[in-house]
Amino acid sequence: MNRLNKPIVTKETIKNMEDMSWFIHAQIFDDLLIIAQKETNCFVLKTTDGLIVIDAIWPSKQAFDAIINAIKDIGWNADTIKKLVLTHGHTDHTGCGKWFVEEYGVNTYLSETDDIFWLEHHTKPDRPETWKDYDITNYIKDGDTITLGDKTIYAYGTPGHTPGGLSYIFPVTENGKAYMAGLWGGTTPPRTKHGVIQYLKSLDYFLEKADEKQVNVALSNHTAVDNGLERIVYSKARMSYMPNMYVIGQDGFGKYCQVFRTMSYDGLEE
Ligand SMILES: [Zn+2]
Repeated sequence: MNRLNKPIVTKETIKNMEDMSWFIHAQIFDDLLIIAQKETNCFVLKTTDGLIVIDAIWPSKQAFDAIINAIKDIGWNADTIKKLVLTHGHTDHTGCGKWFVEEYGVNTYLSETDDIFWLEHHTKPDRPETWKDYDITNYIKDGDTITLGDKTIYAYGTPGHTPGGLSYIFPVTENGKAYMAGLWGGTTPPRTKHGVIQYLKSLDYFLEKADEKQVNVALSNHTAVDNGLERIVYSKARMSYMPNMYVIGQDGFGKYCQVFRTMSYDGLEE
C-alpha cells in the first residue's frame, strides 16, 4: 500500500495556523485534554494541584477562549490553571499565553535562548500583534523537570527548529493505567544543512530519552503530522471498547518519529 511518508505542508497550511473560525477538543486520557484549530494544537494536563497548559495555539483571544471553554466543557476547573509550559518561541506556540498570565497569573516556562529568540526574531515581522507580549517567569534547560501536584514533566533541550527548542515527556493515565507521553517540540526541520544536522542530533537524543522513559504515547503540536484532527474526532466519539489511538507502544513511538528524519532528508535534497 502506498502511503505518504510525510505530511504535505503548503502555504495554505501555514495560513491555516491563523484560522480561528473553529476549534475542536477531546479528553484523550484521564488527565490530558487536547484543543486544536486547523493546524496547531495545545494540551492541558491535570494534576492533583491544578492544571498545566502546554503551548498556547496563537496570540488570539479566540484561541484563549477556546482553551478555557474546552476545560470547562469536560468538567475541569479553569480557575486552577497554574502553569503555561512552552515548547519553543514561535508565535504559533507562545500563542495566547498573555491572557493566561493576565487572568490566571500563571508561571510561564521556556528556555532562556528561545525567550531571547522570541523577542528578537518575529515569526511575522510585519505584524506587531504577533510579537512577544508576555514574560517568562521560569527558564527551562535540558534535564530540568516541572512539577505540579502528582505530575512531573521532563524537559529536554532539542535545538534545531529553534535555537532553544524543548521537547517533553510526561506521564498520563487511562482508567488509572499509567502511560508515558512524548511531545517533540519543534515539528519541522530547519532549512540549512547545519540546522538539519543539529535537529537530527536533537532527535536522536530525544529518542534515547524516550526509550529510557519508556514512552508509548505519541503527541504532536501540529495536526498535519499525526492526522491530529482525525485523531481528535475519533477520540471524542470513541466507545469504551475501542482503542486509544494515542497509545502506540514504545516501538510505535520510534516509528512515528521517523517522519522527522524523512522531512529532514527531503529538505536537504530539495
Ligand atoms: Zn515552530
